[in-house]
Amino acid sequence: MPRDYYEVLGVARDADEKAIKKAYRKAAMKYHPDRNPDDPDAESKFKEAAEAYEVLSDEGKRRIYDQYGHQGLKGRGIDPNFTDMGDIFSAFSDMFGDIFGMGGGGRRRASRGPRPGADLEYPLRLDFMEAAHGVQKEITVHRHTHCDTCTGSGLKSGASESTCQTCGGAGQVVQAQGFLRIRTHCPACRGTGRHVDPTDRCDDCSGSGRQRATEDLTVTIPAGVDRGMQLRLVGKGEVGDPGAPPGNLFVTIDVEPHSLFKREGVETLVTIPVPYPLMVLGGDITVPTVHGEEKLAVPKGTESGKVFTLRGKGIPRVNGRGPNGDHHVQLVVEVPTSISGREEELLRELAELQGAEGSVQEPGFWKKLFG
Ligand SMILES: [Zn+2]
Ligand SMILES: [Zn+2]
Repeated sequence: MPRDYYEVLGVARDADEKAIKKAYRKAAMKYHPDRNPDDPDAESKFKEAAEAYEVLSDEGKRRIYDQYGHQGLKGRGIDPNFTDMGDIFSAFSDMFGDIFGMGGGGRRRASRGPRPGADLEYPLRLDFMEAAHGVQKEITVHRHTHCDTCTGSGLKSGASESTCQTCGGAGQVVQAQGFLRIRTHCPACRGTGRHVDPTDRCDDCSGSGRQRATEDLTVTIPAGVDRGMQLRLVGKGEVGDPGAPPGNLFVTIDVEPHSLFKREGVETLVTIPVPYPLMVLGGDITVPTVHGEEKLAVPKGTESGKVFTLRGKGIPRVNGRGPNGDHHVQLVVEVPTSISGREEELLRELAELQGAEGSVQEPGFWKKLFG
């Protein structure tokens, strides 16, 4: 279980934004790997401070953390667990720019040495209401994990490895091809720089150190997610080289359209056909929202196409910041396609009374109007 974030930065629970930023700068200066080259402890403290800052500097994440702690963040797909120093430098490049003059991330990402696992992506299609209200989903992920038998070393128990003789452990060799000299992965060790005698290879994974795994995961989708959003499940990607962290799993959200509701960000819109007499005379009607039915008072003389807005009856904000979006109800006149004889009688009488029959269709009417 990670340490309390307030304790990590040494600030009070009601510390303001400025105090938190100041405390983080202090910690980052103190534990920066460039200043502590021989202290492996400093690097983990540096990462810990970055995590604490990522959460406490974000109003929404901080509120979740205050209320539900570390588990609460995880449950909402927020995991500030930095697996790579490059992540920290790129996340806070603006800050480090003014502290260390380094400007930008990724500088420390090692081009050699054990490689972290690849990220995976899982497309997840939700129906409209699941996205609006949040949902728990079981997903099945196929990925590689460390081999259970050799725990990722690729070696039989008791066996050991040596440095690759072909590349001297560099993992790369330079090959001459005509005038060109090309640097490639060492063919003998496939870039690992290690040599394992074939008889020393783990039987279960043939020395790769990996096995295919199928994992069932429960993903908690927060209310208000929208098409294209991604949830990051830290460490649920492909396994890395021994000593390197695994990749992350990104769950990419897609949302099915709804037969009734349209959605634009956190706002929803529904179009309701209303009988002509009700639009003219006014009255109460019931309208659907994503949260259930609501009453709407239709004023006397409402024109077709008029939009009424129900505040806060739309989609929740996915970061939990601020009220729900609004729900817009558009009323349009319903035109029946078949009517009873009595209805026709009344309508003809009404048309006669209004003098409407034939008048607007008279040739020359529109021409007169627009000159
Ligand atoms: Zn080699
Ligand atoms: Zn194995």
